[in-house]
Amino acid sequence: MQQRPISPIPRRLLARVRDVMAGAETATERLDRITAIIAADLVAEVCSIYVRRAGDVMELFATQGLNPDAVHNTRLRMDEGLIGDIAANARPLALADAQHHPNFAYRPETGEEIYQSLMGVPILRGGRVIGVLAVQNKTRRSYAEEEVETLETVAMVLAELVAGGELIETDEFLPADGTAVLPLRLEGVTLNDGLGAGIAVLHQPQFRVGELVAEDPARELERLRQAVTEMRGELDTMLGSSDLAGRGEHRAVLETYRMIAEDAGWLARIEEAVGTGLTAEASVQMVHSDIRARLGKAPDRYLRERLYDFEDLANRLLRHLVNGEPARRDFGTAADVIVVARSMGPAQLLDYHRPSLRGLVLEEGSPTMHVAIVARALDIPVVGQATDAFTRIEQGDPVLVDGDNAVVFIRPGEDAQQNFAEAMRAIAQRRAGFATLRDLLAETRDGERISININAGLLADVRFLGETGADGIGLFRTEIPFMVRAEFPSGEAQRALYADILDQAQGKPVLFRTLDVGGDKTLPYWKQAQSENPAMGWRAIRVSLDRPAMLRRQIRALIGAAAGRELRVMFPMIAEISEFDAAREILERELEHARTRDAEIPKTVEVGAMLEVPSLVFQLDALLPRVDFISVGTNDLFQFLFASDRGDPRLAERYDFLSPAMLGLLRTVVESCREADVPVGVCGEAASRPLDAMAMIGLGFRNLSVPPPAVGSTKSMIRSLTLGPLTSYLGTLATLTHHSVREQLREFALDHGVMI
Ligand code: PEP
Ligand code: MG
Repeated sequence: MQQRPISPIPRRLLARVRDVMAGAETATERLDRITAIIAADLVAEVCSIYVRRAGDVMELFATQGLNPDAVHNTRLRMDEGLIGDIAANARPLALADAQHHPNFAYRPETGEEIYQSLMGVPILRGGRVIGVLAVQNKTRRSYAEEEVETLETVAMVLAELVAGGELIETDEFLPADGTAVLPLRLEGVTLNDGLGAGIAVLHQPQFRVGELVAEDPARELERLRQAVTEMRGELDTMLGSSDLAGRGEHRAVLETYRMIAEDAGWLARIEEAVGTGLTAEASVQMVHSDIRARLGKAPDRYLRERLYDFEDLANRLLRHLVNGEPARRDFGTAADVIVVARSMGPAQLLDYHRPSLRGLVLEEGSPTMHVAIVARALDIPVVGQATDAFTRIEQGDPVLVDGDNAVVFIRPGEDAQQNFAEAMRAIAQRRAGFATLRDLLAETRDGERISININAGLLADVRFLGETGADGIGLFRTEIPFMVRAEFPSGEAQRALYADILDQAQGKPVLFRTLDVGGDKTLPYWKQAQSENPAMGWRAIRVSLDRPAMLRRQIRALIGAAAGRELRVMFPMIAEISEFDAAREILERELEHARTRDAEIPKTVEVGAMLEVPSLVFQLDALLPRVDFISVGTNDLFQFLFASDRGDPRLAERYDFLSPAMLGLLRTVVESCREADVPVGVCGEAASRPLDAMAMIGLGFRNLSVPPPAVGSTKSMIRSLTLGPLTSYLGTLATLTHHSVREQLREFALDHGVMI
């Protein structure tokens, strides 16, 4: 990150503002005095303070220079005028020619027509805009960046006064659209499955930065260093906690975070700020604002997400400086808590008392976000991208988090709460029911054994093998560990991870899919040109064959990890024979390489192709003799067969998996594989829907790989199914020209007592 020198803070100005703040006058008198001080110090004719009122209007509360009668009379909507612009976008403006700015709104009562230039900054509290501080000049003036920073620092101090409850009731800071009391439903994306109910705790710093200007800079430096030492000790204890025992990506994530805490550059900058005369607390905040400004605009998602790590650390350090307390937040043993945050660093979640934590709601977030990885390791439901959650949920609100359906219910009515509680009970009961099936065979009533496997992507997922009783891992998406790391994992790091996965699988088969990166699965440390059509772009095996060193390194790691045991590997998105041949060739060469080095090689090696691109169906005759197995990736195959983007909600219901075209294609694949005596399985979400899985079993598939929560329902469906009648019924559907045969199959299932 490029660094900008820190400008010395005008200590005199801050000291004077601080003196006024501490004075005994009324809040209004103090505001007036502060505007006069700022105007004088910044050599501006005008200094005004606007406060946000109910209904999202900015009201002039104090001014030096504008017409005093305008106070409490001038009111601007959040998007009106330059003040509204600053408030709506929560960002400063510095304009030499303010009057010709497109957003300038003239208010005759203020008498401001004689002022040409304007510089204003938002007054922020807990991330919300609660006012605007602005200065104006008669002559055309270009404000320097340092002046904007000074005004921002003063605004930080002013926030205490504005939010203190003396100027307006604090209730007014709540959203004015009535959403504070009505039940509300927010949709987001699932970052971790599961259901949780509890009382909202808004995640925000729990401290007040008091003094900004240091009396004794040497003492501040000492305080800072002491706080850093304490913070590191706390991190060591926290990261070693038993909740997070074992290895896995969450460890890599937390270690990356720990490395940032050790980052000499970050600490040096804070020390430098202390050198300019700020207190240790103010220095941490100052450097953090700078980082936020920089990273917040970074085009790269990974870099933007590192902002949460810095935010986490800055808050942690401040907590140590302000009260020296460790950050652990306890809610008593009885409380069930849903944490609500704009965003969060991975370690911040660990500050909450784990037994009370029932769910997490984030305004931002992606499945590979660090806090999501940690939440998965802790088994807490998470809904991300819940727009405006932080402003719409109040501290103490009852909240229900439905991670399975990516929905958050806020202040639900009694009926809704009861329904949710019943749904939770029903799910718990169903799970308990499935748990009793755990050790029973997945066998149809007429004795056909079906292998049920799980799809996984993190080391933490391997535990589901034991919990669900699945036969193995039918798809390990190896790109996920790559996506959560800060840098490309070394060969040894990969080998260790794959060996851990095999160890933890305790002899159950694991099918590793080589990297499916590219398209929308980007690696943070790997620049890649935008593609107009990422799913059909440079991804998966195409990337691996164009960057063979990367594939070689991964295969070498897999061979090393599986030394002396079984290795099963498959290549994604194979579209033609030559791609499979080239990939297999790399694998054979690596095996040869291991042999020549006298390294122990896997006991057996099976190599397969994923069938995700329809072109491969027309090359099965040539492909099947070359592969040890085929795995049908229904997610991609379906989207390419119907030319229907799998991520576009407008197309979600347009075509049906249980359509004559899809079933016809699957039938061809199964029959070809049977004739060639090549095992064939299915992975992809379709297999996790019991009715769809039933159809596939009817067509002849005997090996399914599903997300872990679907193992129970799939097994229950299989154990209630008699295969004979289904097979002949599917034969009668083959000639239909319907959009879908879902209804027919559902009726068949109901008539035959199949648990779908
Ligand atoms: C698929 O396409 O069905 C599949 C399993 O791969 P992914 O979902 O990872 O693309
Ligand atoms: Mg796929």
